[in-house]
Amino acid sequence: MSGAATGDSRGTHPRKWALWRQPRTMVRYFLAVEAIALVLTVLLATQDRYAGRHWWQLGVICALALFQAEVSRKIEKTRRLITNAPHVNMTSVWVFAGVIVLPPSLAGLVAVIAYLHLWIRVWRRIGNRPMHRVVFSTVIIMLSAYAASGTLAAGEMVQQARGWTGSSVTAIVVMLAALVFLMVNNTMVTIAARLYGQPTHLVLSWADYALEIATLCLGALAALALAHTPYLVVLVLPPLLVLHRAVLVKQLEELATIDQKTGLLNATAWHEGAKNELSRAERSRDTFGVMMVDLDHFKRVNDTYGHIAGDEVLKAVARVLKDEIRDYDSAGRFGGEEFAVLIPNATAEQVVNTAERLRRRVTELEVLAPTDSGETVIRGLSASIGVAIYPNSGTTLEQLMLTADSAVYTAKSNGRNQVVTLST
Ligand code: GH3
Ligand code: MG
Ligand code: MG
Repeated sequence: MSGAATGDSRGTHPRKWALWRQPRTMVRYFLAVEAIALVLTVLLATQDRYAGRHWWQLGVICALALFQAEVSRKIEKTRRLITNAPHVNMTSVWVFAGVIVLPPSLAGLVAVIAYLHLWIRVWRRIGNRPMHRVVFSTVIIMLSAYAASGTLAAGEMVQQARGWTGSSVTAIVVMLAALVFLMVNNTMVTIAARLYGQPTHLVLSWADYALEIATLCLGALAALALAHTPYLVVLVLPPLLVLHRAVLVKQLEELATIDQKTGLLNATAWHEGAKNELSRAERSRDTFGVMMVDLDHFKRVNDTYGHIAGDEVLKAVARVLKDEIRDYDSAGRFGGEEFAVLIPNATAEQVVNTAERLRRRVTELEVLAPTDSGETVIRGLSASIGVAIYPNSGTTLEQLMLTADSAVYTAKSNGRNQVVTLST
């Protein structure tokens, strides 16, 4: 989902759509999902029975959806500017309310109206969301809505057949419908992300799930208000706006701490963790290790295969670092092709062993990377690793980093592809 791959699809001829520049499996997936949605919508629209109340409820839901989108336009714009990845949307509130009070085809219509409005008013102007992605997002929300409506209908049938009329059973059915909505939505998003080959940190996290659950809860409450005391539905707006702002804050936080290319910590966040470890180690008289990792002859990779291939190598090395360290160790990218690893609560021997393992894994890497002349496998990589151990190599973070850095230089001048530990 990189900027380069998306491009601007405003008002261009169908033959020039950014969609056709996506990987072929991706295009097939998009078109198949869209075809299924279209067929289902037509089927549902001919089967659904519409009552008078449905139309005013549809009107209220859409009016509120547009009002909320207008009020939070600035938040949404900032959010889309800083990231075009995580798929979190506040629109589910209104679509899910529609699922509960409206026939399925009208719930689908809520999704279409809400997304069309967002596209015209926010996303189109930013240009980092090509039309095909907006259409796809709309379609998966529609399908999630249909699946949730189906769950509700099935629940109702079971309730009638068994004579279970209690509101506790209805509550369970609504929760099940929310779960189905969430699952269908996230499965389809995850498949799309995999097909794009997105790094895992851009796929949904638990915090994203929590957020989606919160929006669906608000949707259910909105539906309850609409069915019993319609005016009360406006009470959903304030929590929704606060929630939307919380999403922005979370994404800003991520932007401030995560290196966007590799998903590792950025230098500032890594330093923060290292400072904490230093004060912990001072108090408990523990030892810990700091490693600086610098790829060998990385300029050659760029010169031979191009910058994009170079980036793929950086991502692959980042994955090795993440895979090979423990949960409480932390790896950061210090810009360029330099990485830092913090190994808390470890002896010199343990740190050197980890460094050796990382070095070996880098030499074993085979990176599939795009180049001007098609995909190539890049092999023969190596890294020089400098190790510093608290307190032997230094008692402040600056000293430790300097020592690890000089160790990298020593490793380079001794012929690269090796681990060097220096004490002061
Ligand atoms: P050495 O073994 O001495 O470390 O040789 P080297 O070629 O790795 O030398 P150096 O560390 O000085 O070069 C770093 C190169 O990394 C220079 C720059 O073109 C490249 N680089 C820095 N950041 C990025 C990036 O984000 N992506 C890509 N593809 N290349 C980068
Ligand atoms: Mg370097
Ligand atoms: Mg280098």
